[in-house]
Amino acid sequence: MTLLTFRFAPSPNGELHLGHAYSALLNQKLARAAGGRLLLRVEDIDTTRCTPEFEAGIFRDLEWLGLDWEEPVRRQSDHFTDYQSVLDRLIREELVYPAFMSRGDIRAFIADSEKRGRDWPRDPDGVPLYPATDKTLPMTERKRRIAEGAPFAWRLDVEAAMARVGKDLSWSEFSDETLSSTRAVEARPQDWGDVIVARREIPTSYHLAVVVDDALQGISHVVRGQDLFSATGVQRLLQEILGLKQPRYLHHRLILGPDGRKLSKSLGDTGLAALRQAGASPDDVRRLVGL
Ligand code: GLU
Repeated sequence: MTLLTFRFAPSPNGELHLGHAYSALLNQKLARAAGGRLLLRVEDIDTTRCTPEFEAGIFRDLEWLGLDWEEPVRRQSDHFTDYQSVLDRLIREELVYPAFMSRGDIRAFIADSEKRGRDWPRDPDGVPLYPATDKTLPMTERKRRIAEGAPFAWRLDVEAAMARVGKDLSWSEFSDETLSSTRAVEARPQDWGDVIVARREIPTSYHLAVVVDDALQGISHVVRGQDLFSATGVQRLLQEILGLKQPRYLHHRLILGPDGRKLSKSLGDTGLAALRQAGASPDDVRRLVGL
């Protein structure tokens, strides 16, 4: 029997807060109960926002909390070549295209379209979908722009990818923290439009790095916050076109702030370091998050 494998995958672009503590401790609890493995992954592809200081803070907070993870820790920024080779495959298979529009271009394009009375479609996070303009650019024009040094990201051609898969997609979601039963959830990658799979300066994006790493690390159980529930549809599509094994998922409740809103990384008193400095113990944190 293969060991069940869980992971906690924070991004060092801010300090950990109670929401991270809940996610980390829940992964640990479930891994222990299953006699399985717990891996830690540092998701630092955004080299402008992630810093060594935040990373050091994450290790400090997790050690203090009593999390025990296996070594070595996978740091995504050490593995850009892994993502590049997967990206190259998607380029060869014509499932991605170069997207040249800047944020400003996108805004102007959408404003113009909305002026003519059309509501522009938005993704589940409320962000406008990427216009189809670049997808239909003739190859000669793409090549010309690239040769001229125009900056671009690689976007997934979701329609082409879904046609390639040729069947409805779903994922297996645990009903609750006992992990005793699952239900099938319909994956709707199309709701996100043509998502970025490689940003302008780096050969990957959050979605691509997550599916590649979950597969490379043999993750069987992805336990993470409810805020990533519908993004799982995009990740299922990527897994399918890349022929990667699919983990099962549990999207857990979010820890909310006193104002009833999701905790952010500019935290105030829900940051773990601030709680520790104010004299809280790891057990206090467990109680605060209901574990
Ligand atoms: N790195 C992501 C975050 O900190 C989590 C990604 C995941 O669990 O799939 O929000």
